[in-house]
Amino acid sequence: MSRQPTVEWQVCGTCNYDCSYCIQSRKYRVGHPSEAEIDRFLEFYAGLPGGWEIKMTGGEPFAFRGFLARIVPGLVERTPHRVSVLTNLSAPVTALDRFAELTRGRLEIVSASLHLEQVDVVDFRDKALRLRERIDARARLIVNAVLVPGRLEAVERAKELLEAVGLRLYPQVMKTKHGVSAYGGADTQRLLQLLGPAPTSRTANVAPSHHGRACWAGAEYLVVTQAGDAWRCRTARRAGEGHLGNVLEGTARLAGGPSPCPYTICPCAVPENRGMIEGRPA
Ligand code: SF4
Ligand code: SF4
Repeated sequence: MSRQPTVEWQVCGTCNYDCSYCIQSRKYRVGHPSEAEIDRFLEFYAGLPGGWEIKMTGGEPFAFRGFLARIVPGLVERTPHRVSVLTNLSAPVTALDRFAELTRGRLEIVSASLHLEQVDVVDFRDKALRLRERIDARARLIVNAVLVPGRLEAVERAKELLEAVGLRLYPQVMKTKHGVSAYGGADTQRLLQLLGPAPTSRTANVAPSHHGRACWAGAEYLVVTQAGDAWRCRTARRAGEGHLGNVLEGTARLAGGPSPCPYTICPCAVPENRGMIEGRPA
């Protein structure tokens, strides 16, 4: 598969949940851009060469009023790009219905995060099913869940419940500040069952290492924060490296091509699934 240029845009820090395993600390889970700043973001995206996927994340995008009022309509009207969203699906069904309408013909993926410590899985399933019926037929809705050590049995039950109605659960190993959580005892077998015998980035996020492989992150993939900072990828941002400038200040610039990955963990499957990592099937 050819590369799909992609921006992961943190449209806001605000979130209405407070998950115990959230990788964003509470002090960063606040704030959102002003209307003028949203315009600057949209201008930047409109100027990107070719067809991109703008994947909107947070915080929780729907927890920011401007998401449905300004950001989604702005992307659809002012840019040629496709859109995706990562959401905890807590928004009222009317808001989710509106999102489906606004993105008609332009939606790529709804990545719905199931936070078992926050929601009832049956309610979540019903909401996910309702949204899937309303989005574009060619768009995908995928449920993802973090594999929290000691709580895998609940994920197994959720997986069964979701798969019974044709929804796929995408498991993600739990990340820590320095890598991936340890799983032991009863978790060992459950982890194997949930990940499957040969997990790929399409079936599970196991936060692999692509160290040394040529990676197009920075050139055709970037992470943009609500403050406008553009980074090569999530790991680069965490390391304080790979800053590509600031969208709001007009200094963001794409790299000219691929360069070897200097990191030993790639915590997000998006770059691999968009074909950014050479030698890895997308
Ligand atoms: S919903 Fe996501 S951003 Fe919000 S607290 Fe939970 S993990 Fe963090
Ligand atoms: S961590 Fe992943 S996205 Fe970042 S440079 Fe390495 S392979 Fe690319």
